[in-house]
Amino acid sequence: MNFDWEPLTQGVWRARLPFLDVTVGLVAGDSDVLLVDCGTTLAEARALDADVHVLTGRPVGQIVLTHNHFDHVLGSAHFTAAQIHCAPEVAETLSHGTAHLRADAVAYGADPVEVDETILALRPPRPGTCPATIDLGGRTVTVSHPGRGHTDHDLIVVVSGRRTVVFCGDLVEESGDPAIDEHSDVTAWPSTLDVLLDAAGPDGLLVPGHGAVVDADFVRRQQQWLVAWRAARQ
Ligand SMILES: [Zn+2]
Repeated sequence: MNFDWEPLTQGVWRARLPFLDVTVGLVAGDSDVLLVDCGTTLAEARALDADVHVLTGRPVGQIVLTHNHFDHVLGSAHFTAAQIHCAPEVAETLSHGTAHLRADAVAYGADPVEVDETILALRPPRPGTCPATIDLGGRTVTVSHPGRGHTDHDLIVVVSGRRTVVFCGDLVEESGDPAIDEHSDVTAWPSTLDVLLDAAGPDGLLVPGHGAVVDADFVRRQQQWLVAWRAARQ
């Protein structure tokens, strides 16, 4: 195995990639396999693909890209046979925003040659319907936009079961403070997190875009942090 895969519930795992501690989620059904985000480079994506074969015996058939930041989307270049689910903003970025993706990736320490190879291999996806239900055989997952926050188009993936798992993208971060830039909406973000809390229920597992799996109390503390961040700038 190339990465440490943390089992969350039956047929559901996540890996924390060494580069930027970004989360990749994996959900296996009886007939199909879904990845949540793909890392930054073809090399990372190939290593993910190999691990998925070992864990599930299947190729990746479905991919959800949570938002248009390089560390979540560029690895999708490797998975040419997979159906990609993403917001229109992600499709737009992968079509016309690759210079910006490259600049960000290199600024964060990615190898420029690897990033260029990855961008050359990209095939921009068509945005899917949202919310969407994806049937993996014997289990379904839902993909939805809970509201504005880290970006204006973040998607979450909810896997229901005895213990619900919510892949939060960068709406939740554990290994650092929430990442805020000019595309974030800090006013809306706390109520967007209410939607995640409702989806997870009291015992659900919330998987951040970066960092360890958290519970509802952690997300409530992050709501308070965001409210305080905004209040300090008014
Ligand atoms: Zn992000």
